[in-house]
Amino acid sequence: MWCAILPAGATITYRITALPGIHPPLVKVDMHFSVPRAEIVNAEAPAWCPGDYQLQNFGKYVTSMSASSASGSPLQVTQGKQVGEWQVHCTEAGSIDLQYFVPEVPPGNFSNNVQIEPNLLFINGPAALLYLKGRKLEDCELFVHVPTGWQISTTLHKLPGNAAPGWSSTDYDQLADAPLLAATHLLIFHFKDGGCRYSLVFFHHLATLMDPARWVPVFQRIARAENHIMGFTPYKRYHFLMDAGGGLGGLEHLNSCRLAYSSGMSAVEYAPFVAHELFHSWNVKRLRPAALGPFNYQVPNVTRCLWFSEGITEYFAWIACRRAGIITAGQLEKHFREIIRRYRSNPARNTVSADIASLKVWSNNGSNGYQGLSYYEQGELIGLCLDLEIRRVTDNHKDLASLMQCLYRKYALPAPGFHLADIAAALDAVTGRSLTDWFLSMANTTAPLPLRTTLGYAGMTPDCLPEPADTDAVALRNDWLHDDAGESPQLVPSPEYKR
Ligand SMILES: [Zn+2]
Repeated sequence: MWCAILPAGATITYRITALPGIHPPLVKVDMHFSVPRAEIVNAEAPAWCPGDYQLQNFGKYVTSMSASSASGSPLQVTQGKQVGEWQVHCTEAGSIDLQYFVPEVPPGNFSNNVQIEPNLLFINGPAALLYLKGRKLEDCELFVHVPTGWQISTTLHKLPGNAAPGWSSTDYDQLADAPLLAATHLLIFHFKDGGCRYSLVFFHHLATLMDPARWVPVFQRIARAENHIMGFTPYKRYHFLMDAGGGLGGLEHLNSCRLAYSSGMSAVEYAPFVAHELFHSWNVKRLRPAALGPFNYQVPNVTRCLWFSEGITEYFAWIACRRAGIITAGQLEKHFREIIRRYRSNPARNTVSADIASLKVWSNNGSNGYQGLSYYEQGELIGLCLDLEIRRVTDNHKDLASLMQCLYRKYALPAPGFHLADIAAALDAVTGRSLTDWFLSMANTTAPLPLRTTLGYAGMTPDCLPEPADTDAVALRNDWLHDDAGESPQLVPSPEYKR
């Protein structure tokens, strides 16, 4: 039996060239890869972007695809059965060049996709980078050609050498999940926490910024609080890509996020948004439902657990802001009070469960729920109930973070992801109780959430207002709502400013 083996260390190379000066502006993408024999190679464009749960069919924007062999002979490229599929007819073994062009690609629900402006290039990987079917696990290299003097930001691993700037990844998923930002001018601040290097990268309408350096301590406090909550940091470097004047929301990536930023926002308004995207570094980017990675980029990746990935993340975003000292206990209570009010006044809670809202989000094109039930808000309140229940049954020795850490140890990458039943099993393991039925009632039924009971454990009314309570309840409430992150975070004394 003969088996074709690719050369050891086979690498798929992407070379991106920005062409902002032509009309319409384009990026040229040159892919370079090897084949062991004459064969047909399938190249595919993702139909969706992880984190944005809607089909965007990025292949429909790709134009002028061509291919050539190592000897320079043109190769036939045919359209596959689906939009975004091509077949490259390789006539001999050896290296292959595949070239195509991508114009500006419209934004998704939360982030720009491909943005080509006279002074700016932004590429969200799935919107511009094809992959070879069956070869997504091969090493990748990325080289970027932008006008002289432009700055480049990406969290990929920098390649040594002085040629065109180059970066590497160990597979396509990592490559696609590291957005590329290049511009004539980026405003960058750095800080460190827990051995990790963070960068705030402001771009786009920099003239609208008012004293952006004041945000550095806010971000540092959030990072420190979340690192403390989870007990470890899952990355070595992290970029906050701050779209100054941008009108979209935020989208999480493996080691970065892109955030719309308006300089008119206060820290209290903006911090939970930042904390949400950063907490995704643990919850959804690494600890994720089984369906969400390795990704199938061609079809909806359906899971019953988006309420966990989004709603629990939102819960911890607010808890982290409290522990970071950015919001007061009263502001945290007020936030929960508002979410509870919206939950009670939403009739969708009587017909749609959290798991169904997760399962059917793809039919909604809104990436937040189904038929009026937001899995962000429902999931956040389930998180609140879980946190208080775990605290009560463990005499406040454990909390929702204990459950997250347990799940992370078992199901985070590179392990396969979790299913709904795995959360229930981990809850029982963490608490030493049998809480599976109680948990599943919140996750996959429309039964009212046990807010009255669980808030009662903390000496709170069902509307999240403090009320007279016994000593244990007051102790639980104080620990839940007050800063227990240790010493106050230090402000950054002199943030590094980099042009
Ligand atoms: Zn999110």
